[in-house]
Amino acid sequence: MSELEQHDYDVVVIGAGGAGLRAVIEAREQGLSVAVVCKSLFGKAHTVMAEGGCAASMGNANEKDNWQTHFKDTMRGGKFLNNWRMAELHAREAPDRVWELETYGALFDRTPDGRISQRNFGGHTYPRLAHVGDRTGLELIRTMQQKIVSLQQEDFAATGDYETRIKVFAECTITELLTENGRIAGAFGYWRESGGLVLFKTPAVVLATGGIGKSYKVTSNSWEYTGDGHALALRSGATLINMEFLQFHPTGMVWPPSVKGILVTEGVRGDGGVLKNSDGKRFMFDYIPPVFKGQYAETEAEADQWLRDNDSARRTPDLLPRDEVARAINEEVKAGRGTEHGGVYLDIASRMPAEEIVRRLPSMHHQFKELADVDITAEPMEVGPTCHYVMGGIEVDPDTGAAVVPGLFAAGECSGGMHGSNRLGGNSLSDLLVFGRRAGLGASAYVQQLTERPAPAPADIEAATKTALAPFDPPASGAGENPYTLHSELQQTMNDLVGIIRKEHEVREAIEKLAQLRARYADVTVDGSRQFNPGWHLALDLANMLLVSECVAEAALLRTESRGGHTRDDHPGMNPDWRNKLLVCALDPATADRRVPGITVTPADQTPMREDLLALFELSELEKYYTERELADHPAAGS
Ligand code: FAD
Repeated sequence: MSELEQHDYDVVVIGAGGAGLRAVIEAREQGLSVAVVCKSLFGKAHTVMAEGGCAASMGNANEKDNWQTHFKDTMRGGKFLNNWRMAELHAREAPDRVWELETYGALFDRTPDGRISQRNFGGHTYPRLAHVGDRTGLELIRTMQQKIVSLQQEDFAATGDYETRIKVFAECTITELLTENGRIAGAFGYWRESGGLVLFKTPAVVLATGGIGKSYKVTSNSWEYTGDGHALALRSGATLINMEFLQFHPTGMVWPPSVKGILVTEGVRGDGGVLKNSDGKRFMFDYIPPVFKGQYAETEAEADQWLRDNDSARRTPDLLPRDEVARAINEEVKAGRGTEHGGVYLDIASRMPAEEIVRRLPSMHHQFKELADVDITAEPMEVGPTCHYVMGGIEVDPDTGAAVVPGLFAAGECSGGMHGSNRLGGNSLSDLLVFGRRAGLGASAYVQQLTERPAPAPADIEAATKTALAPFDPPASGAGENPYTLHSELQQTMNDLVGIIRKEHEVREAIEKLAQLRARYADVTVDGSRQFNPGWHLALDLANMLLVSECVAEAALLRTESRGGHTRDDHPGMNPDWRNKLLVCALDPATADRRVPGITVTPADQTPMREDLLALFELSELEKYYTERELADHPAAGS
């Protein structure tokens, strides 16, 4: 067996974005030893890229805001498919998590009277996003890293070693979770730089690996988003839910081609920017769907009045939930009213003075100037949908973050349920804080009650080693497959056939193509040594992308309705019979392939919403989503 570096920790957190770091802090506060492992540099995660802000009903910009309104907005955004308990915990706890960040040293933008400033975002009734210009995620990560350093200093004072309780393993990729009798026993991976193999023995793993966007060609996501946590969970026996729901953010850059997909924050629209087609028309007024009729402004004058004072008018349809705006842009472009490069215009230049734009949106100003030679204080941006966020993820217990495999926990974008069929902007950063903390607590409680620790079996370690090194083996047949070629074909397939608008025959075609790619994957071969070898890294990531793409495609085929981030051209409306159905992806027990195993997708019902939460909604609103039978228990039913 290849030489193996070994470590022993109470808890191993995989991922050092917002969810991972918050879990680390919590597990350490509970007195446990924690390893945090990340395949990127420490501090480089998607959380750093988050621009617009973190949603929490602190009521600083409008004191009418409260957790109940945030809860209702989140459920509406997710088209009532959300795990309601997660949505409740999230709405109740987000303000405390933001205030807590201040105690760690976060410096949010302020209101004139010195409170944390909050900005408008799509689907949120009140200005709710705590922010730091358009660099909020950076502040979140900076602050939590600072907190971790302060905890390490406390540990040094107590033990003489900074790393007794928290140790960071950066640029280290986990490729397998190891179990003993179905319980977590360890995590196996490799150092990206040296190619050395490493084993973490641990009874508890918190997955916080983020999303899956790199399976798509046009995406706002960077190289780390290859669905690793989703795939690790599946392979270890956990389940995934909601995988058919992908968020295509309405505003990615469309030009030049080298930057296509890079995000343009919703904060541009939150601060007053408007979408226009090539006729100069603010087209979003034509796209208010029936479920939101009456809740959005119907004229430009009313929309602009709302921006000045959101109590005296209805909100602008430019800030409808993301799925609605993305579909509207798609329609405009299809109807020939798009821009030269296949997007629509996003205009902030005509809406506020140049210096105000630079003050509020410094990153956007810089991004467009540097990458597209566009001055957003003088001309409109060209934007279009980009694959941004996966609502689907590891099925977890809402209160503890526990997956179905004992010892496995998940939080953040790699977990599923919280956002239902569509996430509201700003609800991810708050999700990371609320559920990162809860997963850290859940993992600690699990470890503390163990009487003996599971140990990884030597045969499993050997098999994990063999699988990790398989791409260096000579191909079974022919010349071998190049991982870059397969990746590019996968991205094109998902983009073209399981993208923003889906059709049955196209999804079936994608599933066939995925089966072919899976067969070809068996011959993936890489050259060179194990020392910093990106081809090898991609070859391993590719197995994860193939597996999660199959989950997306199979679930997209089964769900014969359109809801949130899943639009079926052949089943255009929402179907109340589907509202409460989860599609649960699991490993096919008959599978023989260790690298890209087969999956099953099975419908399951969710627990009905607690009565006091159901009563927060008017019956007339719920009737748009629920079946009659489900509403029989509503307090207003039959009155
Ligand atoms: P991440 O922050 O992505 O962290 C994942 C971690 O897992 C990384 O450290 C990575 O290295 C590690 N990892 C992955 N696989 C492995 C492996 N196999 N082994 C070891 N480590 C691994 N949301 C908002 O709420 N508000 C916003 O304003 C906002 N703006 C956004 C802007 C952009 C450009 C993008 C891309 C997203 C934005 N989002 C926003 C979404 C939000 O940033 C993400 O959903 C969130 O940061 C995900 O956090 P996470 O902790 O789950 O994962």
